[in-house]
Amino acid sequence: MSASWTRGAAAVATLTFDVDAETPIFAEGRRYAEHPMVMSHQTYGPDVGVPRILDLLDEMGVPATFFVPGWVAEHRPGLAASIVERGHEVAHHSYSHRPPTSLPAGAERADFERALRVFQAQGIEIAGHRAAMWSASRETPSLIAEFGLSYDSSLMGDDRPYHLETPHGPVVELPVHWSLDDWEQYAYLPAPHIGSVIESPVKVEEMWRAELDGMRHYGCLFNVCMHPFLTGRPGRMLALRKLIAYAQDLGDVTFARCRDVADWARGDTGTPVRPLPTYDLDAAVYPE
Ligand code: ZN
Repeated sequence: MSASWTRGAAAVATLTFDVDAETPIFAEGRRYAEHPMVMSHQTYGPDVGVPRILDLLDEMGVPATFFVPGWVAEHRPGLAASIVERGHEVAHHSYSHRPPTSLPAGAERADFERALRVFQAQGIEIAGHRAAMWSASRETPSLIAEFGLSYDSSLMGDDRPYHLETPHGPVVELPVHWSLDDWEQYAYLPAPHIGSVIESPVKVEEMWRAELDGMRHYGCLFNVCMHPFLTGRPGRMLALRKLIAYAQDLGDVTFARCRDVADWARGDTGTPVRPLPTYDLDAAVYPE
């Protein structure tokens, strides 16, 4: 089993940070740009959260992956490079953070390419992609392969890496799940209504520790999705610090960048192929 994607670990942990900043709010309406409270709630992510997260990762000696919308990289020149310089990965997270499943035909491709141009101009080499709001369309995996990226991290068909086949070749899927997303724990904003929860970081740490234990039992990918404007808050950072320390003390969890896990999965002959679910439904039974 030397070729196993886990490289001998009981579980592999990918700490991922989606540096959405203002973009999910703009996707709800350009008018919110005139609302200083809402905008400052979002700018906190890159301004305060990201530096704090980078310091924690340095302190704990673990690598991470930062999914950055092209708009955010473009409007904060130097942000992506500052992440790569610290040994972490920057990956594609759309240009505008509009969910591909709600875009008109052709718009996803334009948005996808626009982000790639931003990263290229900044000398940031991109290997992977995560759809805005995880709402990958049926075309998303094909776009990823067409532009030479190796992985996606938006879907939920397994808790270990799997292959998606596309007309442009295979893509590795590094699956996510709502239970390992800080949005469901910490996102609170009255308008636009992006969430209405402010959970205890103690609860979140306990919940994620339980998931990590289960994933060590079953040999899974502990793919945690966090947002600097949410997890970057002080008590939540301490919870994340405790979670990382817990995993390190176990001694059987490997922390890795997503691009490395994608490489390991590609080299593992046991990685399954899981096609996008496809249905031919009776419109008389399911009218919409
Ligand atoms: Zn996002």
